[in-house]
Amino acid sequence: MMKSLKRNKLDRIAFFTILSLGCAACVTSSSTGSTIAQGRTWTSGDPDKAPKNVILLIGDGMGPEQVKAAGMYANGTPGTLPFEQFPHQGEIMTYSANNSVTDSAAGGTAIATGVKVNNGVISMAIPGDGQPLKTVLEKYQAAGKSTGLVTTTEMTHATPAAFAAHQEGRTQQAEIGQQYLNTTRPEVLFGGGGAGMSPKAAESAGYTVVTNRQQMQALDTETMTRVSGQFGRGHLPYESKGVGDLPHLREMAKTALNILDNDPDGLFLMIEGGRIDHAGHENHLQRNVMETLQFAETVAEVLKWAENNPDTLIIVTADHETGGLKVLKNNGQGQFPQVSWSSHNHTAANVGIYGWGPNSDRVSGTMENTDVFYLLLGQQYVTGD
Ligand SMILES: [Zn+2]
Repeated sequence: MMKSLKRNKLDRIAFFTILSLGCAACVTSSSTGSTIAQGRTWTSGDPDKAPKNVILLIGDGMGPEQVKAAGMYANGTPGTLPFEQFPHQGEIMTYSANNSVTDSAAGGTAIATGVKVNNGVISMAIPGDGQPLKTVLEKYQAAGKSTGLVTTTEMTHATPAAFAAHQEGRTQQAEIGQQYLNTTRPEVLFGGGGAGMSPKAAESAGYTVVTNRQQMQALDTETMTRVSGQFGRGHLPYESKGVGDLPHLREMAKTALNILDNDPDGLFLMIEGGRIDHAGHENHLQRNVMETLQFAETVAEVLKWAENNPDTLIIVTADHETGGLKVLKNNGQGQFPQVSWSSHNHTAANVGIYGWGPNSDRVSGTMENTDVFYLLLGQQYVTGD
């Protein structure tokens, strides 16, 4: 990653130079239908050409070294995880509006809305006019698609919140839960319970509530329209500890797809492997690898579904790296590699982005996290590389 870190810094200098030289260009031009984003320049595109189904998978805290370590453990060789076989790959820069090191709120918001905000902010224009920023989930919902959020963290945690809530601070979890259930109302909300979610609140908002794997898998996915999965309290358990009667991320993703795919207009689904980050904060390699592998299995499950639903765009990426992980030595399949950690927090390292399906050829080189928003909307870039 040394090379990309250097490149990251250079790109950032170039970006700020462009910004200070040419901010007259930083406007939306409705007459031409093109938007100057902070990264590449994207066309508004032809909505009829947007993919029918759009699935975004975010490995929270999953930098390139996390991916490498997991591939070595699983297969004895790096580069072997399912999403590493995707036809289009690149990397994204993750810095936020006010910090070279992002948090998950600003990272999620950049991907969900195409705007860099201050750390801690959930899809509001801060800095800026403080207004709510429309998210890709809300845009696709307005276009008639069914939508869902799936995570292994608390449902109201920062990453999913950035797609379906608007708050000045990520700690406003009660308000985030309220907004999910009563304002944005995605068809599927699967994640940890509590922290602003309760069966009572969800039921009174018209959701069917399930609280364990068995209940989730007993749902009639052909007739079900609105489901709140509240699995345990707080975050779901680490994979390496065993999830007990709660579902794995892969199982939640599969059920979510089977519910959402009844909509002839298509679906938008965000799936987060949320605890890769927590294991990174702990510098706990075993947990980190097992969470990353569950995330990779989830990608494989999604791919299996997409192979029968060919008008589907899949984007796999991360919001940031956590822990400053560096793989030092491959110890072969079934053995954890030798590694070093340089931080207990997030880092400014670039993270990978992997694309499959229509419009995924827009994934290339080093992109901005804000570019992912346009990519997900099926837009094309008109300048840049
Ligand atoms: Zn974190």
